[in-house]
Amino acid sequence: MPTLFIVPTPIGNLEDITLRALRVLREVSLIAAEDTRTTRVLLQHYEIHTPLTSYHEHNKLTKLEAIFAALETGDVALVSDAGTPGISDPGYELVKQAIEQGIRVESLPGASAITTALVGSGLPTDGFVYLGFLPRKDRALRDFLTAIARERRTLVAYESPNRLVDTLKAVGEIFGERQTCVARELSKKFEEFQRGTVSDVLAHFIEHDPRGEIVLVMAGAAAVEPVQWDETQIRRALNERLEAGESLSSAARAIASESGWERRAIYALGVSKE
Ligand code: SAM
Repeated sequence: MPTLFIVPTPIGNLEDITLRALRVLREVSLIAAEDTRTTRVLLQHYEIHTPLTSYHEHNKLTKLEAIFAALETGDVALVSDAGTPGISDPGYELVKQAIEQGIRVESLPGASAITTALVGSGLPTDGFVYLGFLPRKDRALRDFLTAIARERRTLVAYESPNRLVDTLKAVGEIFGERQTCVARELSKKFEEFQRGTVSDVLAHFIEHDPRGEIVLVMAGAAAVEPVQWDETQIRRALNERLEAGESLSSAARAIASESGWERRAIYALGVSKE
């Protein structure tokens, strides 16, 4: 019975691929690859000569028919540029439809930046939430962080180097001081784990321009003692932030994440003070 194999590939170091993945890539009739040029480098390294076809973000729906046609006569392997297909990469639609059509799907274990970063971060691994890529726009990012501020499990997100500093600032303002780890260039020459409080990590990346590929790992709210501030504490924190020039809405949002108070209640205190 023809099989669709989901095959993870290395996230940097070409050695990070399993023997089974190499055998499958050698034996299938066709490899559907996010970027055929990237995959060709891997195949050349391991002297694999299987035909390639493209399967990427922009043809992931129109290409399904061709891939299912190929599956009528032989096995197909799906690979992405790096790591596990379907994880912030094309794959989901193909797997879903293959299952619906009764095609056998085999998902091979292998590299992903999520688990590599999480386990090396030193933050709790017993439960975690994968957030994908964080929203790009500042307002959307802040709303997103506010909505998950009370999540108790460790948080794992992909982030681009040019947004990292702004994202860490927003994390610090909305989550307060939490243990954080930036895992950069995993398995590559300039691999780096920056671990510490959000402020520590932010200070590092203000000084050293972040480059390359990045996973951001943040402690969940469980690591923070459950707190309920009294009104005096709220007023003091508000005063400090407003005197430092922060807007009332930003201050209310930040204090809400630390104090156990609703943002609206803090905002109302601020307004009554004006
Ligand atoms: N499917 C991949 C996986 O399983 O990890 C993720 C693909 S996603 C399009 C690419 C993002 O993953 C990068 O922008 C970065 O955030 C993260 N990433 C991939 N390789 C990485 C590496 N070697 N070091 C750090 N982050 C990496």
